[in-house]
Amino acid sequence: MLRIAHLYPKLLNIYGDNGNVITLQKRCEWRGIEVNIDEINIGSSIAEHDIYFIGGGQDIQQIEVSKELQRHKDFLLSERERGAVFLGICGGYQLLGHYYKPFEGERLEGIGLLDAYTIAGDRRFIGNVTVKTDCVTPDTLVGFENHSGLTYLQGETKPLGIMVTGNGNNGKDKKEGARCKNVFGTYMHGSFLPKNPHFADYLIGLAIGEELQPIDDTTELLTHNSLVNKAY
Ligand code: GLN
Repeated sequence: MLRIAHLYPKLLNIYGDNGNVITLQKRCEWRGIEVNIDEINIGSSIAEHDIYFIGGGQDIQQIEVSKELQRHKDFLLSERERGAVFLGICGGYQLLGHYYKPFEGERLEGIGLLDAYTIAGDRRFIGNVTVKTDCVTPDTLVGFENHSGLTYLQGETKPLGIMVTGNGNNGKDKKEGARCKNVFGTYMHGSFLPKNPHFADYLIGLAIGEELQPIDDTTELLTHNSLVNKAY
């Protein structure tokens, strides 16, 4: 049984980010792997899970989630150490790092699962993204970014991939997303996992501790390939 925790779906779900959880669920079910999904909302407690997902949102929603996450910070850090898989998209990604400083207002504390920090810039990056990664085959990831936060990685935290199209973490260093242990962050909405089925399987494989047998992804890969290098 694969246990998925969906963190704050009522607050953080733009550009269909919830589709990432549906993708994880379906790809498990198609292989006969049982899945249990727990929605974690404001005030919920959090028990052990195999995969944690947190989507994106606007600064206003991030304020509430930032405060709530502090209650769970130590537990979630211990889950990272245990090898649990995390995927954060955009606003959720920013809160997996140390902090997000919006253009106006106070700094929002993150939980430091990624050694990264984010500071709002004075323009928005909006458009298609293609990234080259060494995590999966095919070695491309595609998505759609819309953010003003500029994210910088430090220490052991490495980028998820290198930009081919789009701006990624900060528009300057060609890096997109982040990885530290089994914690992943990315600016790619889309939804991300339906367009990147190979990466969805990679996450499930990490969570269950074995590589998955391939399934027929003809349609999914047609979609993926049609988006590779799509004009920004
Ligand atoms: N508020 C963040 C930013 O604009 C996150 C946006 C998002 O999640 N799409 O940088």
